Amino acid sequence: MDDKIGVFLCTGYGIAEALDVEALRNVVTGECEVPFCETVPSCEGSDLAAMNGTIRREGFTKVVVAGISPRAYAGDAFPDGVIVEKVALREHVVGCQPPKEEDTQMLAEDYLRMYLAKVKKMAPLAPFRPAEPLDRGVLVVGGGLAGLTAALEAARAGATVRLVESTERLGGWLGKQHRSIPTKPPFRDLEETGIGELVEQVTSHPRIRVSTSATTASISGGPGLFDVTLRSTGNGKPAGEVIDTFRVGAIIQATGWKPADPRDRLPWGRQPGVILNVDFEEIVRAHGRPVHPVDGRPVRSVAFLQCGGSRAKEHHSYCSSICCLTTLKQALYLRESDPEAKAYVFFEFLRAPGLYEDFYRRVQEDPGVFFTRGEVTAVEPAPGGGLLVSAKNAMLGESLAVKVDLVVLAAGLKPNSADGEAIRALEGAKVAVVKGENEQQRKEAAEKIEKLKAHEGTEILNLRYRQGPDLPALEYGFPDSHFICFPYETRRTGIYTAGAVRQPMDGAASREDATGAALKAIQCVEMTARGEAVHPRAGDTSVPDFFLQRCTQCKRCTEECPFGVLNEDEKGTPLLWVTRCRRCGTCMGACPERIISFKDFSVDIVASMIKAVHVPEEYEQSPPATTASCSSAASTATTISATS
Ligand code: SF4
Ligand code: SF4
Repeated sequence: MDDKIGVFLCTGYGIAEALDVEALRNVVTGECEVPFCETVPSCEGSDLAAMNGTIRREGFTKVVVAGISPRAYAGDAFPDGVIVEKVALREHVVGCQPPKEEDTQMLAEDYLRMYLAKVKKMAPLAPFRPAEPLDRGVLVVGGGLAGLTAALEAARAGATVRLVESTERLGGWLGKQHRSIPTKPPFRDLEETGIGELVEQVTSHPRIRVSTSATTASISGGPGLFDVTLRSTGNGKPAGEVIDTFRVGAIIQATGWKPADPRDRLPWGRQPGVILNVDFEEIVRAHGRPVHPVDGRPVRSVAFLQCGGSRAKEHHSYCSSICCLTTLKQALYLRESDPEAKAYVFFEFLRAPGLYEDFYRRVQEDPGVFFTRGEVTAVEPAPGGGLLVSAKNAMLGESLAVKVDLVVLAAGLKPNSADGEAIRALEGAKVAVVKGENEQQRKEAAEKIEKLKAHEGTEILNLRYRQGPDLPALEYGFPDSHFICFPYETRRTGIYTAGAVRQPMDGAASREDATGAALKAIQCVEMTARGEAVHPRAGDTSVPDFFLQRCTQCKRCTEECPFGVLNEDEKGTPLLWVTRCRRCGTCMGACPERIISFKDFSVDIVASMIKAVHVPEEYEQSPPATTASCSSAASTATTISATS
């Protein structure tokens, strides 16, 4: 069918006051040779309905609406099957340029030329529908607080859930705790952990199936079509034996954290009576009160050393945010077990974020808890037994020493994720395979990749992806894509992270985080079922086309795709896993042969848009600048700032 194009010029929102609408019409009907160009008073409500009536009546196949930002429209604002391009005159011209000026008019006319050039070359999109039925289930890996919460929230929202835990029991670190820090006002009293009830809710939920003593031996496929194989970790079954295979639509990795090793200068592991805060917690849980780990006698004095493994640039440089709160809680265990007991807290900085400050104040009120800001200089055996902790008081400048029964080190949190260093080395080697300066360098990089891919020990998900077995990690091994802008997102589509594996967090934050990740997972399977992309181009139904007859197997696209979408056949030809694709277009820009394109976005379309910009003769020495800005960030920021 031949294209029939219609253009609607909006005169509302101050557009008619700032621009010469008649001149805009002349650009459309004269220069761009599109005969239909109608003005509309607005782009919303009854005016939008009238526009849609005209589109149907005239049988337009393609439409340009020059008025408000594409962000202002709902997904179903225009008739199905019609290609509609929206030109943000209000936001990108009138909202940010002076009215009635020549340059402002030129900008508006150029936008019209560019979008008409674009729409002429666009072809209709066909949302991807795989031949096999898509699964809407969710796999949760990790049975601690975040994993249990994610499983429960996903199930409550209607999803079927498989929960996999590598140990024999559910509960994770919370299951090993005696009490929790206070989570509600007035933030004074320790709370029950509530883990028993949570486990009961999960195990009794009809839509959740739990596998303990199991890990994921392999995960292949993509959103809606993840094929999972579970293997036993050895409780009652031979370790490594395949125990189940199934398909899910999305995955949440909630594998939690592990304690970071303390700094070398602290005699942990070398001096009996110097233990980590996680060990102290287990002792109190097992005995109902603090006792010495060696002889089991009740302890009456404990030194808590903050940042035992954290905030040291060369060691574990970040703050884990919950160790100070754990110390405050553990100091109360001691005081509640024995009113005569003494807790000495040595710290450089004590952090109790947000309303937890009230809990800090409540512990400060306790006459048996002593806070000293300073540097611990030695922990040694004390004459007559116990340990002598020496410190330099930072406030008063004097040295002090206290004799205690036990020293507890506040250990930082490390993510229970794949080995971040190995992953970064793998990514570096992959780039070197493509961009190595000579054949020898490229060969060495290829050999390194094989070695790194085969390494055993830290893989958790065991993805059967060309890009490696686990989620790519940020610095320090946290497998997140951006913890502020895009929480829960990873660089593997349909796989989300939640809880302390994503960033250090307390129990309340883990619960919230897990709920967010569960909603993301459900959103992913629903959007995939509709053939739509997920974040950041949520709702996009385009799919990259590869004209493989001209592919040189250079692997640029497979290496540069940020989301691990492309596998390869044995010759190195890219194989597109459509449901993993986020429609970001990186592969299109990477391909030196220019054989990757989208029906609504291609090298040809972009080139035509740039060529459509009118360069007046007097500007030929310094032509107008054209920028390509990211639709989810820079372009959106312009839109928001122009309308706020
Ligand atoms: S558009 Fe290309 S680079 Fe982007 S996610 Fe899809 S395959 Fe990867
Ligand atoms: S970048 Fe282009 S030429 Fe290279 S492998 Fe990918 S599709 Fe083929």
